[in-house]
Amino acid sequence: MTTVAPFHIPDYIRSIAPYIGGKPIEEVAREFGLDPAKIVKLASNENPLGIPDSAKRAMAAAMADLGRYPDDAGFDLKRVLCERLGVADDWLVLGAGSSDILITAAMTFAGNGGRVVHSQYGFVVYGLAAQKVGADATVVAATAGFGHDLDAMLAAVLGDGTPAALVYVANPSNPTGTFLTPAAIEGFLAQVPAETVVVLDEAYTEYLDPAQRFDSVQWVRRFPNLLVSRTFSKAYGLAGLRIGYGIAQPALTDLMNRVRAAFNVNALAQSAAVAALNDQAFLDESYRVNRAGYRQLTAAFDAAGIDYVPSSGNFVLFRAGDAADAGAKVNLALLRQGVIVRPVANYGLPQWLRVSIGTEPENAAFLAALPMALRHARQAAA
Ligand SMILES: *Cc1c(COP(=O)(O)O)cnc(C)c1O
Repeated sequence: MTTVAPFHIPDYIRSIAPYIGGKPIEEVAREFGLDPAKIVKLASNENPLGIPDSAKRAMAAAMADLGRYPDDAGFDLKRVLCERLGVADDWLVLGAGSSDILITAAMTFAGNGGRVVHSQYGFVVYGLAAQKVGADATVVAATAGFGHDLDAMLAAVLGDGTPAALVYVANPSNPTGTFLTPAAIEGFLAQVPAETVVVLDEAYTEYLDPAQRFDSVQWVRRFPNLLVSRTFSKAYGLAGLRIGYGIAQPALTDLMNRVRAAFNVNALAQSAAVAALNDQAFLDESYRVNRAGYRQLTAAFDAAGIDYVPSSGNFVLFRAGDAADAGAKVNLALLRQGVIVRPVANYGLPQWLRVSIGTEPENAAFLAALPMALRHARQAAA
C-alpha cells in the first residue's frame, strides 16, 4: 500500500477495494505456463459465441468516422430502442456498459449523503457505486435460497424515518442466478416510497425462459421512480465495447444525462449495438446455446452430487466443497488445468465458485477438469 497522506482524500474513497474481474486468458497462460489457445475462460459471463458478425461489419463501416466525436445523443441507437420498447427517446440514457448506468444512478440520486440499499450477494458494482459517491449502503440479508428478500429490502428502504435514496434490485441476480417473479417485483414497486429511486438491473433478461419474461417498460410508465438497466455485454456479445442503457421517465433520465460523462459511449459501440439489436438470429442462437449449456452443466452437477443454485442467467453458482477456502483451492486446481472460473469469496461465498455457461466443448473441458480439482482441494484440506 502506498501512502497518500498529502492529498485531500475522503475516507470513503480510501476504503474502496479494487474491482477484481475474471482473470484474462493471457495472464493465466503466463502464470501457469499454458498455451493460451487451450485455455477455457468461463469467468465473466461473456457470450461464448463472441461478437456477432453483423456487429463486426457495422463497426468496419463506422471506422471511417472515428476522427470525430461520437453522437452524444446516440440518435441511431435510440431510434431502434424507442421502436422496440415503445418509449420516446428522452426515456433513455446510454452508458459505457450498464455498470456506467448503475454508477451514474448512484451519482445522480444518492450522492451527498444518500442511502443505498442492496441485497447480500447482489452485484459487486452496487456497493462500489454507493461507496464511490460517499453514500451509506444498507446490505439486506438474502433469502435461504440466495435471492433478494424483497420484504426485508422494503423495510430497509423505509428505514426509521428517512427512506433510502436508491435501491438496487437485480433480476436475474449475479452471481447467484436467482429470479424474482414479476408479481413480487410489482408488489415491491407499489410499496417503495415515491422518493426512492429503484434500479432494476436486467443484465440477463434475454436469457429468461419465455414463461419467466415480464414487461418492465410497462412498470417504467407506471412508476416515475423506476430505472431499468440493460446491457449489450451478455446475450448480445459486446462486452468488450462497453455499452448499455437505462429506461426511465424523463425526470430521471434528464438528470442522469447531465451527470454522465459526455461522449461516454463510443461510436463503434453505438454502431455495433444497432446491428446486434437487429440480429435476432444471433440472439436466438445465444439463448439456445445457453439453455443447452445449462442442461449440460447441471446434469453433470446432479450426477456428481455437487450443490448449485438454480440459475436463470448464463452462469451457475456451485459449491466447491466444505472447507472454508474450498473455492480458492478448487479455483487454483482448475487454473492449473487451464480452466478459468470466478471465485466469489468477495461476495462472502468462499466455498462457492461461479462458472459461466460456455459452448458445449468449453463446458465439457470444465467438467473434465472439475473432478481432479475437487479431489485435489479435498486432499489439500485433509
Ligand atoms: C454483467 C452485469 C452487468 C453488466 O455489466 P456491463 O457494465 O454492462 O458490462 C450489470 N449487472 C449485473 C448484475 C451483471 O452481472
